[in-house]
Amino acid sequence: MPDEKITLEHGGGGTAMMKLLVDIVLKEFTHKKVGPVGLDELDDGAAITIGDKTLVFTTDAHTVKPIFFPGGDIGHLSVSGTVNDLSVMGGKPLAMACAVVMEEGFPMEDFRRICRSMNEAAVEAGVSIVTGDLKVVEKGALDGIVITTTGVGIAESLKTDAQLKTGQKIIITGTIGDHGATIIGSREGIKVKGDLKSDVAPLWGLAKAAMKAGTVSAMKDPTRSGVAGALNEIASKSKVGIVIDEAELPISRPVKNLCEMLGLDPLTLTNEGKILMGVDAKDCDSVLQAIRRTKYGAGAKVIGEATRDNPGKVILKTVVGGSRVVPPPAGDPIPRIC
Ligand code: MG
Repeated sequence: MPDEKITLEHGGGGTAMMKLLVDIVLKEFTHKKVGPVGLDELDDGAAITIGDKTLVFTTDAHTVKPIFFPGGDIGHLSVSGTVNDLSVMGGKPLAMACAVVMEEGFPMEDFRRICRSMNEAAVEAGVSIVTGDLKVVEKGALDGIVITTTGVGIAESLKTDAQLKTGQKIIITGTIGDHGATIIGSREGIKVKGDLKSDVAPLWGLAKAAMKAGTVSAMKDPTRSGVAGALNEIASKSKVGIVIDEAELPISRPVKNLCEMLGLDPLTLTNEGKILMGVDAKDCDSVLQAIRRTKYGAGAKVIGEATRDNPGKVILKTVVGGSRVVPPPAGDPIPRIC
């Protein structure tokens, strides 16, 4: 339609964004396949084979509002997010680039604080920020700061969204919805009982430990559009069904409280420090133990499994004994979440 406009929902990481990517980006870009994972796969990043090595790379723009929030800030998020997209492809992060665009008048001290956070996350993940770009736009042309990070890594064993197999167990590495709930709470000034805190964290150590402990297939970080969005992507690309058990979903009390208050589904909220993965049933215990020993994996749980029935669909077994389809969200419940 000639007078259609971009809406905030198009940036929400759900079905609205997917449609935009398929209708415009994949149509307009004349892209040849240069490696095992390219643009058409719409995975967490791309993979290119160079000699006997598989290079993975990914890029992400960060626009979170507010830029400082309980548990982190835009700097930590911009490094962790890219580290995690490499990690869920099985890639050990090697180096990163960052491009910063700031609005004229942005406080110098805030910029220093953000750089310090970026460095902390990078040091923890064992990755170096080796190149970048910095631009300033006139006041009002941008809301504060936007940070884009690009990362490269090497995958010994490439993981894609299409690898989940029937019978494999689904692990989530901890509580769900923490980042999304924290941003909504801070932005709207909502107080709930208990502290809301973002889970933002770089997860290469966790992903490495899991892969070492057993056969791990599809991995995905459930960011925008949450666990519901990530599982739907895995189910449809892997052509298997996924059944998850509502009673097993780890959700913190404050996140539950906020969701109840605002009528939000925690399955659709953004996570910035969690991984969903498929694991062979025989390796499930050893992988779970290995994850739980890592810094960010203490709350890891099995929440479901991949089935032959209902290929491409995610089914929730409810606590009252029923079951329902979990649809892919149109987008995250609120914009500018990461
Ligand atoms: Mg991702």
